[in-house]
Amino acid sequence: MGAEGRGTWLERAACRGTDIEIWFPVHKTGVLHKYREQSPAIELCAACPVWAECRAYARTIPLVEGVWAGVEYKRGKPVA
Ligand code: SF4
Repeated sequence: MGAEGRGTWLERAACRGTDIEIWFPVHKTGVLHKYREQSPAIELCAACPVWAECRAYARTIPLVEGVWAGVEYKRGKPVA
């Protein structure tokens, strides 16, 4: 995907302009998975119009971290 394409879906992302802290719960790894129904990040992802694009993009990032398309990653692996 080119930079132009990324910009298009990122502009429509439900997380645009939100507090970055909820997307990178580094100090709470695993907690988001356990309490995912209470997470504002998971709620936003569930209603996001570019969920599929986000998930596909996250899979291209080596050692991806944080929440992408409703999944929390740590060092490139989903936190289970
Ligand atoms: S699916 Fe979630 S992390 Fe991905 S763009 Fe949408 S709101 Fe942001």
